[in-house]
Amino acid sequence: MAVATNLGFPRIGAGRELKQALEAYWDGKISADSLLATAAALRRRHWELQRAAGIDVVPVGDFSLYDHVLDTACMVGAVPARYGWAPSPGAGASTPLAPCGDAAGAGRSTPAAGLGAEAGPGTAAAAEVPLDVYFAMARGTPGRGVPALEMTKWFDTNYHYIVPELEPGQAFHLASRKVVEEFREARTLGFEPRPVLLGPVSFLLLAKLRSPAEAGAAGRSPEASRSEAEGLGSRTAGSSGGEGAAGPRLALLDGLLPVYGQVLRELAAAGATWVQLDEPFLALDLDEPARAAFRRAYATLAQAAPGLRLFLATYFEGLRDNLELALSLPVQALHLDLVRDPGQLEQVLAAGVPPTLHLSLGVVDGRNVWRADLEAALALLERARDALGAGRLFVAPSCSLLHVPIDLNLETDLDPEIKGWLAFAKQKLEEVAVLTRALNQGRQAVAGALAASRAAVEARRRSPRRTRPEVQERLARLNPDETRRPSRAPQRRPLQRERLGLPLLPTTTIGSFPQTPEVRRLRARWRRGEIDTATYEEGIRAEIRRVIRLQEELGLDVLVHGEAERNDMVEYFAEQLEGFAFTRHGWVQSYGSRCVKPPILYGDVARPGPMTVRWITYAQSLTERPVKGMLTGPVTILQWSFVRDDQPREVTCRQIALAIRDEVQDLEAAGIRVIQIDEPAFREAMPLRQADRPAYLAWATECFRLVTGGVREETQIHTHMCYSEFNDILDAIAALDADVILIEASRSGMELLDAFVQHRYPSDIGPGVYDIHSPRVPPVDEIKALLRKAAAVLDPAQLWVNPDCGLKTRRYEEVEPALRHMVQAARELREEWAPAPAAGGR
Ligand code: GLN
Ligand code: ZN
Repeated sequence: MAVATNLGFPRIGAGRELKQALEAYWDGKISADSLLATAAALRRRHWELQRAAGIDVVPVGDFSLYDHVLDTACMVGAVPARYGWAPSPGAGASTPLAPCGDAAGAGRSTPAAGLGAEAGPGTAAAAEVPLDVYFAMARGTPGRGVPALEMTKWFDTNYHYIVPELEPGQAFHLASRKVVEEFREARTLGFEPRPVLLGPVSFLLLAKLRSPAEAGAAGRSPEASRSEAEGLGSRTAGSSGGEGAAGPRLALLDGLLPVYGQVLRELAAAGATWVQLDEPFLALDLDEPARAAFRRAYATLAQAAPGLRLFLATYFEGLRDNLELALSLPVQALHLDLVRDPGQLEQVLAAGVPPTLHLSLGVVDGRNVWRADLEAALALLERARDALGAGRLFVAPSCSLLHVPIDLNLETDLDPEIKGWLAFAKQKLEEVAVLTRALNQGRQAVAGALAASRAAVEARRRSPRRTRPEVQERLARLNPDETRRPSRAPQRRPLQRERLGLPLLPTTTIGSFPQTPEVRRLRARWRRGEIDTATYEEGIRAEIRRVIRLQEELGLDVLVHGEAERNDMVEYFAEQLEGFAFTRHGWVQSYGSRCVKPPILYGDVARPGPMTVRWITYAQSLTERPVKGMLTGPVTILQWSFVRDDQPREVTCRQIALAIRDEVQDLEAAGIRVIQIDEPAFREAMPLRQADRPAYLAWATECFRLVTGGVREETQIHTHMCYSEFNDILDAIAALDADVILIEASRSGMELLDAFVQHRYPSDIGPGVYDIHSPRVPPVDEIKALLRKAAAVLDPAQLWVNPDCGLKTRRYEEVEPALRHMVQAARELREEWAPAPAAGGR
């Protein structure tokens, strides 16, 4: 009999109960016990929901109070010294040696996500990581100035994980039995659970290695997290893993495996028969040492707990060149992501599935919100059943359902036609159950569900809502000239500088100004219908007036309108474009308690009318200085939405690009002289596999150029990207042919500029000189020092002066003095360099 299973379930709760409980706990409003009770209630509700949907084996240990990678770091005792917690094997459970965290004692002695730190059989009781140490690692402790661990994107998703910080020679020991406790909890409630662990090789590849000297000062400032929901994570976990060469991290494997072994033994002792080990890296590019690490790890784990069966989960990519490796590992089940790579099923069958191996087939998309085509999924499953027999199959979503909203049934306002095309976590599990029944009992047993699926697929395919002939015709007619400006950026520079009256070292900002509580309230009241549109718009105009006046007073050269009318840089545009739908409860965890509600891009994209022109021209009417038009780029809109799966992403992206192109044209026609296209997601949208990257970069670049290709020579195009790794995409960045790129740089101390120098980046660059992730106001001299560093390697005539990113998460008390210092620094250097520009340049 095939078994219906799931790899992971969203944790936050359909009503975002976990978010509320976490934030209340952090604010000192509820006790640790109350937080943990909410967590336990959610787990139970989610297991019940999964069972009711028809899932035979539910995951446990996938729940997390903040992040599952952080949970794993705690499980293996990888707690950096700055959190003031040290292992004390043999000491009584839950007695932190050096209490950490500023919440007044509440819950300090509660194990992370624990239900009591009961030691497993045959092991000495050891202290478990206390709850507040756990949260200190996740968020920092502002009161004591201890920074959080870094955070970055989980593969190519918009979920951020906490980057474990390891030292050379790092010692590991079991310091959290969360997974064992949750297993017992589920068993007690009568479920058949399969514990989920992040596999040891992927854990190491996701981590970063610090030298002991660095360890004290590492991490984000506690406030960094606020803006990370918008994709400000500095790196994306990709094929090469966390940071730097994988070798030194993989060298820690031998010390790590005994802890995993102990966890497996404790799980087996608690009654587990299968344990799921997630190894997404097994589906990415691996070098020989990483392959060897997989062999070593699984040879060891296979021996760790006799009788316990290992379920190895790969996802987000196909196995490709790692297929033989994966099939050779001594595990009892292998999960394949057949949504990302349906072709790998044939490859695996052709390679020969060892007789003892089960396959888990991920046929329902865990990354997107579309209803499955059950016929197509069933065709794959039946092929596997005919080859291997149903008894060796698990049917599953392609990956954890962490990345989709929980329940479509809550969306009572959604257009019924579009709703009929969708499936959220609950509905996806029902699909898995139907498919499993079809395998076990034959198609006739689920004839009704299959017919309904067929009808839904057909209805979506036929729906006029999905297609706009005029958009498709325009795309078909596209000609390459539309992506080209007549000359390259260096030739346009003098023309633009003169027209804009710009000095050496022009100053500007990235776009948003602080979103004050008043602005947020104004928007919320308007959305609720408590104030009319005229009142709302006058409120926004007042905010624009204030922001323009402030910038003039500060002496900035290129001004912005401040983005007060925008709540989110993607949603704002999506709401004004056709082809997008919006949910009310479609929350997806971004990190910790933060969630995003991505728009659903279901049809051809069209722009019924101008989206920003009114606000930008109003701002421009208030000042002589140039005001930038501010637009979100097509790749970022694509990347931060749930996009249609019925055509290639690049086609969808081109459609968005055409809509934004029209907006650019309208802004230019309205007299706007500088237009910024934000593409913070340009780097993160890169495919995980090296081999797929050139094609992506080609279409992504083309889309950007489609947006800007129609403007006049004297119109200046800015772009903004924020993450610190540009090395591998600099050719593409140069090919964007923007006149100015404003990038995050202050946190890396301008180091990233080396890449721009090496590539002889031709256009202007504004390396951020003010870290907006921190409330700290940078002194003038510090900004000057950063600019000197930049001018030592780049032509000073190429340099702009600006913050790292938008200011919307900051407060005016910080922003005003910081910008004042920034302008002052530019002025002083201008004077110093004007007669004879800095030596050492070029
Ligand atoms: N223009 C946007 C802002 O300033 C850019 C945001 C971003 O890079 N994520 O807020
Ligand atoms: Zn940014």
